Amino acid sequence: MNSAGERARAFVDEVLIPCEVQAELGRISADDVALIRREALAREISGGLHAREHGGQGWTHVEWFLVEEQFGRSTNALSWHVPTAYNVLAHGSPEQIERWLKPALRGELHDAYAVTEEHAGSDPSGIATTATRVADGWRLDGEKWFVTYGDVAAVFIVMALAPSPTLFLVPADTPGISVVDDPPFTHTYPHGHPTIRFDGVLVGEDAVIGGVGGGDDLQRAWFAEERLGIAARGCGAMLRLIEETTAWAIAREQGGARIIDHQGVAFPLADSAADAAAGRLLGLEVARLADAGEDPKVVHAKASMAKLFVSEAANRCADRCLQIWGGRGYTRTNVAERFWRELRVDRIWEGTSEIQRLIVARALERRGVQRVLW
Ligand SMILES: Cc1cc2nc3c(=O)[nH]c(=O)nc-3n(C[C@H](O)[C@H](O)[C@H](O)COP(=O)(O)OP(=O)(O)OC[C@H]3O[C@@H](n4cnc5c(N)ncnc54)[C@H](O)[C@@H]3O)c2cc1C
Repeated sequence: MNSAGERARAFVDEVLIPCEVQAELGRISADDVALIRREALAREISGGLHAREHGGQGWTHVEWFLVEEQFGRSTNALSWHVPTAYNVLAHGSPEQIERWLKPALRGELHDAYAVTEEHAGSDPSGIATTATRVADGWRLDGEKWFVTYGDVAAVFIVMALAPSPTLFLVPADTPGISVVDDPPFTHTYPHGHPTIRFDGVLVGEDAVIGGVGGGDDLQRAWFAEERLGIAARGCGAMLRLIEETTAWAIAREQGGARIIDHQGVAFPLADSAADAAAGRLLGLEVARLADAGEDPKVVHAKASMAKLFVSEAANRCADRCLQIWGGRGYTRTNVAERFWRELRVDRIWEGTSEIQRLIVARALERRGVQRVLW
């Protein structure tokens, strides 16, 4: 059988990319969504790092990086239809794993992760959502912003003060949960990022995941994985951008020459290639260190560095490629235009570029320069 990365590349070329323009200009059909899920399961490219007994693939971080990189070659978050689940769910009790993780990896439900609040974004320690003990469980009160998948999720993973930071698994149909806003965003993605209120939401003792007070540790592991995933997908985006734009620059003639022969076109392509190659080496190195059992604090810092570098580089790359496409680059049917909008959020979510810089700088001081660099 081909490697997971090769299977993912074929899947993206054959199943996801043909749906992109339709997804951008409207919505893909329910049949196409079902096809994406079915093909991802059949080709064994879903569920990556999750254990095989839970329905995942049990991949190494390197294998997972190579698959996420391929998903990053497609736009409009079509890969979000590939069955998956946040890594937090793997820390659940056997009952939580049966109820939420296994169905998620079969493509039967979505989870959503809710930490950000109106007054707690870059500094999640400022959250105000409370979990108060009541008979037989907990009462949750608070409001969460930008909850990705919040409009389709069956379960919310909610960070609340109990009184120390604790994660709760809250079924989306629990009384007291409401959507207070569902703003439109820059990208055209299948799912929204609504604002969700929790008013006197009652859950049982069994809703706690990772133990009372265990929220921060689970969240650090979540951040490290999500940030490395952003780096991987950013590398894939740059690969697609440079492939398609190089082909265009070779074929397009202006002023009696191929535009790639104009230095003003060739140099941005070369700079983008150097960015993409460097970012990929860094990302793969972080994945290798995670597989080798390196200190999680070092992996966390290096995942931040990879996310910072690749997300900034991918934005530069998309901007340069759009320019090389000229007027065609400003149409929504052009891949460079879509990436130019879509990659912007990678400098914001899972911690802004400024926050990644703070993490890297703190690691230089605490872990030592050489461990952070090499
Ligand atoms: C599309 C989208 C999807 C999202 N999905 C989720 C989700 O599923 N779950 C979830 O919980 N959250 C989600 N988020 C929230 C995201 O993680 C936050 O938006 C992000 O962490 C920034 O927080 P903020 O928006 O409150 O900005 P703020 O924290 O208010 O920051 C504003 C500006 O100040 C800068 N800044 C803040 N503090 C510092 C500092 N110490 N030093 C230097 N600069 C600083 C920031 O870098 C930024 O430029 C999502 C956001 C978006 C846009």
